[in-house]
Parts: sequence; structure tokens; C-alpha cells
Amino acid sequence: MLQVRVRFAPSPTGPLHIGGVRTALYNYLFAKKNNGVFILRIEDTDQARLVEGAEEYIMESLKWCGIIPDEGIIEGGKYGPYRQSDRNRLFRQYADILVEKGEAYYAFDTPEQLEKLRTESEKKGNTFIYNASIRGKLNNSVSLPESEWKANLEKNKPYVIRYKMPLNEDIHFDDLVRGHIVVNTGTLDDKVLFKSDGMPTYHLANIVDDHLMEISHVIRGEEWLPSLPLHVMLYRSFGWEAPLFAHLPLLLKPDGKGKLSKRDGDRMGFPVFPLYWPYDETAKGYREEGYYPEAFVNMIALLGWNPGTEQEIFSMEELINLFSIERVHKSGSRFDPEKAKWFNHQYLKHRTNNQLALEFRDFVRARGYHMDIIELETLISLVKERVSFVKEIWQETDFFFKAPETYDQEVIKKRWKPETSELLLELKSVLGNLEVFSPLSTEQAVKAWIEEKRYNTGAIMNAFRLVIVGESRGPHMFDIISWIGQEETRKRIDKGVSVIGKQI
Ligand code: GLU
Repeated sequence: MLQVRVRFAPSPTGPLHIGGVRTALYNYLFAKKNNGVFILRIEDTDQARLVEGAEEYIMESLKWCGIIPDEGIIEGGKYGPYRQSDRNRLFRQYADILVEKGEAYYAFDTPEQLEKLRTESEKKGNTFIYNASIRGKLNNSVSLPESEWKANLEKNKPYVIRYKMPLNEDIHFDDLVRGHIVVNTGTLDDKVLFKSDGMPTYHLANIVDDHLMEISHVIRGEEWLPSLPLHVMLYRSFGWEAPLFAHLPLLLKPDGKGKLSKRDGDRMGFPVFPLYWPYDETAKGYREEGYYPEAFVNMIALLGWNPGTEQEIFSMEELINLFSIERVHKSGSRFDPEKAKWFNHQYLKHRTNNQLALEFRDFVRARGYHMDIIELETLISLVKERVSFVKEIWQETDFFFKAPETYDQEVIKKRWKPETSELLLELKSVLGNLEVFSPLSTEQAVKAWIEEKRYNTGAIMNAFRLVIVGESRGPHMFDIISWIGQEETRKRIDKGVSVIGKQI
């Protein structure tokens, strides 16, 4: 059977968008599912668009996600090198093969001449297309007498090599996601394959490398679908067997209107990159926001693919077992930032209290506090259900570490009555008399007192929470006070009564 060999072939032009990570993931899952090989190839032939640091960023992102290449720049492999600029000497000969076969030609038109043609066409309301209907009138080895274009070459006149797209032919091909597609060559132009700077274009390098690396399936984003007819034609012109193609649906904005962009993330406060991009401080990353890589991978796996069941939580192992291209959607997938958080919450919930305590300890230390792991574990068990990220544990538990510095004015307005101070001081003495200060003993004592005095439970407990926590939030009051202890509880009641009492 055909050996499955797939590649993720990003261009290092900036940080990797989550759509790119999804493409890498689907390639990886497909390779692993089929006992195949997953290759990372860096497509950096467009020197003008190269961005420093992007190649390392791509590799680090994949590593963080656990998408580990079998062959690549770091991993090596017998089809290398895996960075296209290191393969540069290869491409020219392939462009020459096409010229010799009469499937490509030299074009000497200068950028100024082409610009002029474009403007003239625009004035007439047309779009200029360099194709079969016009190439005979332009400055190239199809239109010029042989002696002339050869002289041009000898004089080192700058040129590009263009593909000779047939005038009017239907090209038929299949896409594993999109199905059967027919495109007439009349709608296509004579694409540049080799540039005047001596570098191949994406199209040539991509096809040659896919062929040389024996790629069996090309799985990539839908934005490459318009290039597919040309790629199919190039395979035909070379006389090579084409790989199978699968074009993945777009990732859409949360409202479903258009492609998900960094601007959407900035506007709505969610990252569109796996890692922070250090060259632009607004480019936030999932890793730095506190996502677990497993949760992130799980979330993106379901953006464009479904397992056919209601199950939503998958380990990488499970994804590998279940993945199939047939279940990749045709239509775009709407990105839902809330759902992303939900996934992290699910993974956080399933971590042990000990794991979370170890992770949370850094946040505690960074704020200058100390607490034993065992104590942190108990604390975490109280708030685990309510947080999606480890960093949120602090917002839920800060009052365990320190007395409130301020008191919520809204709550004061609503809950603090003239008699409240008196009641809290009475509560303080009820609690102060207890020998055992556990959640149960304190709750029983307070309830008995309220019952005996026929007080209003709500009025007391709300004010009590206000002086202990500073706001109307947090876990069960008796868990909190038994945690902070008898002495601290008394102090906080005194402080609250004095500070709030003065305001009233
Ligand atoms: N270098 C292209 C990119 O940046 C690769 C497209 C493909 O997979 O063919 O996405």
C-alpha cells in the first residue's frame, strides 16, 4: 500500500495563526492514523516576506502542541534539506525542463511595461491577465523570434519563466473535502514559476518539493484551492503523478462573517496565535493566557472536523484513532472564544488538586505569600469548579491570603443597616467562644445563635461575607473562616465594622 507522507509547509512570514496550527494538526493526525510520516517543510523562497524569528516560532508552537514532525529541519530525514532556501539549487533545473518541453517560456516584460498594460486595461474596465490570448503580443520567447530571445538571454536581460497555461481546456480533478472540481484554463493566467532574482515562486518550489519528498496527500487551507488547477497542470506537464488533495475549511470570526483575523482577537480579547509573538506585544498567545496545550489541541481539532458522536473531550491518542478526512467539514467553522475557555476548564477540572497546587504555587509566590502544598490543595478543591485557568484561582482565593483592603460600595449600600455593626460584633463573640473552629462547628454555632435570636440569616451572612471577603463572592463562608482561623476572623470583623461603620 502507498506510504502516507504528508507535510505542513508554512511560510515563515510571521506568527503562526491558529488556522495554521489546525492544518498542521490535521496533517499530523492523518499521518499517525495511517502509520505515515509527518514532515515539516519551511517554505521561505519569498525572501521579501521573510520575518525573523518566525521559523523558530513555528517549531516551538508545534512542539508546545505535541505535534512532533518525523522529518524536518531539526529532526532530519533522507528527503532533506527541509528548508526550501537550502534547496535553491534544485529548482532551476525543473523550470528548464518545462521550458524544454514547451510548457513554460521566458518572459522579458519589465515591471513598468506590465504596470502600463494593467492600467490601460483598468481604464477600459477590464482586468489584465497574462494568458494565452495575449502572450503572443507580449515580450517573451513565444512571441519573439528565436534569435531575438536567445540574444536577450545572452545579454543577461532580466526575465522570468512563466507557465504556458492552455487557452481553453477543462481541467478535472478531485479534492477529498470538496469533491470533484472542473476549472476551465481560460480563467487562469500564465503564472510566474521562476523569478528574475533567481528564486522559484511558491508554485514551482511547492510542486517540485512535494514530488521529491514523495508526498502522498496535500492537506492545506482552503485559501490554496485557487492554486490547485495550476498545481494539477504542473504535475501533468512534468509527467508526475499528483498527490491527493484535501482543502480544509476556513476558520470564521465568532459571528460567522468572514475569516478569523488577529483584529477579531484584539477586539474581543482572545488570542489567535498559539504562543506570544515577542515582536508585537499585542499578539497574545494561548500558552501565555494559561491554556493547557491538550485543551488547545482538543479545541482546534473540532474546528472543522467532527467525530460523528456527541463526545467533545479527546486526547491526542483518541484524535489519532478517530480522525478521518471524510469527516472534515466543507463549510467554514465559526471560532467561539467562550468554547475555548470551556475546553480549558474541562482539562483543569480533571487535573488533581496536587497538580493544580503546584501550578498555582508560582502565582502565590509571585505575590509574596507562602502556603503549604497540602493547604493549597484544599483551597483549590474549594474553587476548582469555578475557574477555567490557574491564574483565575488567585482572583477566587485572594481573601484567603489577606484581609480585604476595600469593601464593595454597592454591597454596603444594599446590605449595611444601622444595626449591622452590632450584629457582627455579637457574631464575633459567638465565634470567639468556640473551642473547635471547623466549618461544621462554626456553622452550627452561628445557625443556633441566629435561630435563638430570631435574626434574619441573609442580613447577617451578607454583611459577614462583606467584612471577611470584601465583596459578595467566594465559597461557603464557614469554609473560609475555618481556613483563615479564629483570630483572623475576629480581626476582619473588627476592621470591617470600624471601616464601614465610619462611612455610614
Ligand atoms: N507555503 C504555503 C503556506 O504558507 C504552503 C501551502 C501549501 O501547503 O501548499 O501556507
